[in-house]
Amino acid sequence: MESVILHVDMNNFFASVSCRSHPELRNKPVAICGDTEKRHGIVLAKNSLAKMRGIKTGATVGEATLLCPDLCILPPAPDEYLSVSRKARQIYNDYTSQVESFGIDECWLDVSASLRLFGDGVAIANEIRRRIREELGVTASVGVSYNKVFAKMGSDYKKPDATTLITEENYRELLWPLPVSDLLFVGRATREKLHLFGIDTVGALARSDLRQLVSLLGKSGAELWQLANGLDRSPVCSNESIPQIKSIGNSTTAPRDLFEAEDVFITMRVLAESVALRLRTEQLCGCTVQIELRNKYLHTCSRQCPLSVPTNLSEEILGAAFELYQQAVPDLRGIPLRSVAVRVTNLVSEDAPAQLSLDFDSERHERQQTIERTVDTLRARFGAFSVRRAHLYTDPELSGFTPKAESLIHPTDAPK
Ligand SMILES: [Mg+2]
Repeated sequence: MESVILHVDMNNFFASVSCRSHPELRNKPVAICGDTEKRHGIVLAKNSLAKMRGIKTGATVGEATLLCPDLCILPPAPDEYLSVSRKARQIYNDYTSQVESFGIDECWLDVSASLRLFGDGVAIANEIRRRIREELGVTASVGVSYNKVFAKMGSDYKKPDATTLITEENYRELLWPLPVSDLLFVGRATREKLHLFGIDTVGALARSDLRQLVSLLGKSGAELWQLANGLDRSPVCSNESIPQIKSIGNSTTAPRDLFEAEDVFITMRVLAESVALRLRTEQLCGCTVQIELRNKYLHTCSRQCPLSVPTNLSEEILGAAFELYQQAVPDLRGIPLRSVAVRVTNLVSEDAPAQLSLDFDSERHERQQTIERTVDTLRARFGAFSVRRAHLYTDPELSGFTPKAESLIHPTDAPK
């Protein structure tokens, strides 16, 4: 029986995910840039409007804004990228267990065994596209074919939010006119070599003399010839290459030097609240709290301690972080601090059963959980500053910052 393989590719992934929380940018050129404060930060990704204006990945922020003065620049949102990638994978798993990731935003699905349950390949592709649009707020293009390479070319064929079916009957008509570099594994060097022999399209490659190709490119010449002729039969290899988040942390450079313990406490409170919210959004808890203190001469002092139970509550993170600070005070030798980071590591799933320790006040923990969840809901509805601790108003200069997110991403199985 013939295989039915889908290749799902989320469109302009990084820019689309980042724009979900900025509906006002929907019709504007947007670029995701590292180090947005610095003019030498570079463009990491862009949306289609920015692409149309000539913005290229790798350009500096300075070059990009010169080319497109109304370009909207956003910082990367690594947690959100991982979260959307993981949720997309959960959707795919509803249709088949044979899912192979190819980068953070692309997957192959072998749905050959699912057709009786869910309809033909195109029907499954359309349903997956609808769910990605409705549940994740981004769009995807899907290629449906009888092999992986043609499925991938199908997802590239029509974008955004489209399904393309490549069959044994139509592949010559649809794919052969495309430039040869559209074929998987044809990089620049191969393309240039093929060009010397007048092979510029997929069709020209498919119709070329096999022996001549092998003498030109070696073994890979024969492989490419097979791909162009629809003879790829490589299986979809289930992998769990979804990168795992290793730690969630927030840091800030204070608007003024921090002399007093009270200053550090206020700063740490804002950081702990942000870390806790991010943990809850990811449905994770941390078992270790780390702090990093940097003084005005840029000397850094780090401390960490285990928690009695895994947590994603700001009160508990703050308590541990401030205790670490107090232990570090003698080492700081009275030099005022410039920046503070609070980080939670050794992450576990929120549902993982916790080994309760004897001195753990579970009633207090549950009460705090209810309070923080309620505040999450209020902030989600009415904005981040709708609910604030009275304590933070004692020093609005110190507490009025947006914490800088950092997270360590650990790809368990980086895609080739
Ligand atoms: Mg993509």
